[in-house]
Amino acid sequence: MFLIAGIAPKTKVLDQSPRRCPVCGLVRAYYRRVDHYLSLFFIPLLRVKTGDPFLLCDACEKTVSEMKRDYRAETDRGQRQCKRCGKGLEEGFSYCPFCGAPVP
Ligand SMILES: [Zn+2]
Ligand SMILES: [Zn+2]
Repeated sequence: MFLIAGIAPKTKVLDQSPRRCPVCGLVRAYYRRVDHYLSLFFIPLLRVKTGDPFLLCDACEKTVSEMKRDYRAETDRGQRQCKRCGKGLEEGFSYCPFCGAPVP
């Protein structure tokens, strides 16, 4: 028996111009989104779930979650933190805007 109605994922490419992949450096990464559709007779009728956009590289097949981790590691390295409350501080602050502690 065939399943004629069901929820099927559908990958959508969100932009046409490739972006540079931070992992391998090639301009082969596209923003995509996986939406879930209610399909009947294999025809998508209704979008039931909209996925979060993610970047997937065609060359090395890394997804955005792995890239995000890399990005975060990079920004953490360059950012100063308040010694008292631990929040990230922008360059040029003399006082922490969150707790008021002087920034060394
Ligand atoms: Zn790549
Ligand atoms: Zn603080």
